[in-house]
Amino acid sequence: MKRTSHISELREIIAIEKSRGRRIALIPTMGYLHRGHLALVEQAKQRGALIVLSIFVNPLQFGPNEDYTSYPRDLEKDAHLVETAGVDVLFHPTSEEMYPLPMVTYVEVGQLDAVLCGANRPGHFRGVATVVSKLFHIVQPDLAFFGQKDYQQYLIIRRMVGDLNLPIEVCPVPIVRDFDGLALSSRNVFLTSEQRQEALILSQSLNEAEKLLRAGERSARVLETRIKEKITNESQGVIDYVEVREAQNLSEVTRIENPVLVALAVRFGSTRLIDNKVMEVNPLV
Ligand code: AMP
Repeated sequence: MKRTSHISELREIIAIEKSRGRRIALIPTMGYLHRGHLALVEQAKQRGALIVLSIFVNPLQFGPNEDYTSYPRDLEKDAHLVETAGVDVLFHPTSEEMYPLPMVTYVEVGQLDAVLCGANRPGHFRGVATVVSKLFHIVQPDLAFFGQKDYQQYLIIRRMVGDLNLPIEVCPVPIVRDFDGLALSSRNVFLTSEQRQEALILSQSLNEAEKLLRAGERSARVLETRIKEKITNESQGVIDYVEVREAQNLSEVTRIENPVLVALAVRFGSTRLIDNKVMEVNPLV
């Protein structure tokens, strides 16, 4: 595996591979990698492309009171993990490399960035769309992999790619969960063992909502209320949001007819966790 923190060196490596006719796959991450990230690598491997994985904790997507400085980092452990997993190139730039000047140019994906996590974290998705488009320009990938753990982020990147005619296939990867249902996240390391146990309520309440839907419930508000009640009654989690929205475009839903995204963000102490599930009225299986 090659590794570099320099944009110029990365561009050279990629130019050589492209001249050999190799397709390029990009996996953007913030590091502190776990099996969720490795699922993206697995999917990319199946496409036979050169796999570039980036690790960059992007200051632009963190609010002033968020966890940018305390976000977990372990570059050497990550490098070992991705090398074993079959990544071809690890790109781990510094902030100075990515932002040599204060940024005055941004990419904003309207509407989709105004709801769910966007309503709670102003500027977050502008930071995400901007850094991902910088990475797209640096790496010029044919394919880019995004986890559905961050479903809204996936939709935003997919829309950005469509709106700007970027020649990139955006590939979604299903959420990877721990043995007990907790969605894997780099931030899980911040949970105390009690909080981690309580956080199981997130996947449990999503599963319960899906059962209600399967049993015939079609009201989005009823599903939201049941999830909120369960979380509030059975844990100390503080709810940021629990919302049912159209899975295609995040528009509002009253009566559930099409596939919906049931998404939530809940704080356990100072750790904010997100989870979601896409649910269909008439699933094929
Ligand atoms: P992050 O390092 O948290 O920015 O995540 C980098 C990429 O990995 C994003 O596309 C995430 O959606 C994806 N990812 C993170 N956790 C998971 C998970 N548990 N399952 C699937 N994808 C994930």
